[in-house]
Amino acid sequence: MKTKIIIVGGGYAGIRAAKVFGAKFGLNPGIDIQLIDKNPYHTLMTELHEVAGGRIDPDALRIPLADIFHGDPLSVVTDEIKRIDFDRQVLYSEDCQYPYDFLILATGSKPAFFGIQGVASHGFTLWSYKDAVLLRDHIENCFYHASHNKLTRDQLREKLTFIIAGGGFTGVEMAGELAEWKKRLCRQYSVPQEEVRLILVEASQDILQTLDSKLRVKCLNYLKKSGISLMTGCGIKDVEGTRVRLSNDTLLNGTLIWTAGIQGNPFLKGQPIQKDPRFRIQVDEHLQSKSHPRVFSAGDAMAALYQGKSLPQVVETAVQSGEAAARNIVATLEEKPLLPFRPKYHGTLISVGSYYVAAKLSGIQITGIPGLCAKHLVHLHHIFSLGGFRFSLRYLHHQFIYRFSPDSTGFLSKQITQFLDPEC
Ligand SMILES: Cc1cc2nc3c(=O)[nH]c(=O)nc-3n(C[C@H](O)[C@H](O)[C@H](O)COP(=O)(O)OP(=O)(O)OC[C@H]3O[C@@H](n4cnc5c(N)ncnc54)[C@H](O)[C@@H]3O)c2cc1C
Repeated sequence: MKTKIIIVGGGYAGIRAAKVFGAKFGLNPGIDIQLIDKNPYHTLMTELHEVAGGRIDPDALRIPLADIFHGDPLSVVTDEIKRIDFDRQVLYSEDCQYPYDFLILATGSKPAFFGIQGVASHGFTLWSYKDAVLLRDHIENCFYHASHNKLTRDQLREKLTFIIAGGGFTGVEMAGELAEWKKRLCRQYSVPQEEVRLILVEASQDILQTLDSKLRVKCLNYLKKSGISLMTGCGIKDVEGTRVRLSNDTLLNGTLIWTAGIQGNPFLKGQPIQKDPRFRIQVDEHLQSKSHPRVFSAGDAMAALYQGKSLPQVVETAVQSGEAAARNIVATLEEKPLLPFRPKYHGTLISVGSYYVAAKLSGIQITGIPGLCAKHLVHLHHIFSLGGFRFSLRYLHHQFIYRFSPDSTGFLSKQITQFLDPEC
């Protein structure tokens, strides 16, 4: 009988885990490795705001899992897992069953709404390829209506007001993109720039609280210079249609973009496994479920502590924990001791629009052109490790050619597009 290892989730954590198994068990006929994801592609989550903010083409966000695992000794299945029977060790989707001997749950996270009325139904989120495309289309539609329809003063104001809830990295990055796209949209739809309002709302007293204070001030100044109004110390109280009420009872009317909270994937909510209150799987230092030793978890889906603190839900945690969980399953199969997870972080990096980056990498603060170079190198490094030269070239194409020639009519753009996708 073969030993069956299943990884659910082809995100940053799941892919890393699958690569470790592929390298370790590639020639072992007794081990069967399967990666299951509801989508046939990996989403580059760190670039969602660039698509939602009209900077890059939506296609730039996706790398097919088949390309990532081309030639690797594992099977990739496109299916959505709905239920898990941990006693029988079987995963269930709508139509299929997947028995396992060892399981890694790497199903990522989803936005949390904290029970605030109307946010889930009326707000836009930024947590998937689909979210980014919906938001991008909606924003462009708002400008289209503002330009083509006869609107009252209030209707115009509502169409051109964008309220970004959450002063963390995602909210600030989204605000930065919008500030840049606004200028192009105003030109394209003949809308005066002063009609557009971009408001960043943060419930606590300060934005970007995990960023070094010097860098935080720089980002703050850059946001203000870009025309973004900051409202700190007030959260969202409730939402009804386009009416957004803040905790200080200020009423705003416009599009709500919700980036303020994060929780485990809601599909884990009903599964009988030990979780924290935000549906993240509680794991020990080996990333092994506290209630089910044959189940490991990695990335945003896990609730792990290191030196008494929760781990940040970022790519570095996901990649390193994916690797650590896989190595501990290998160790279990080889009857060797499991190793505790010891994350190592290289720093933080935030981009506010396409021209401003603030980063602290290996203790060194970087902004300006070195910051921009660092950002592109970090992204290229990740993309190269997944998709090799072809997808790295595609990244450069989207970042440096597509945005200046989005209809791909430019000669160079056309040549590159054909090289990257000969069928198009
Ligand atoms: C807008 C945005 C910007 C960000 N920017 C940064 C940044 O600049 N730097 C940084 O370090 N971090 C950033 N993050 C955080 C980072 O993206 C996450 O920490 C990281 O994606 C977590 O990786 P993961 O593998 O755990 O989950 P994910 O990458 O989310 O992957 C989860 C996978 O599971 C699949 N899945 C989910 N449920 C099921 C199911 N039931 N059945 C089958 N498949 C399923 C999904 O399709 C997905 O492919 C950002 C996040 C967002 C939303």
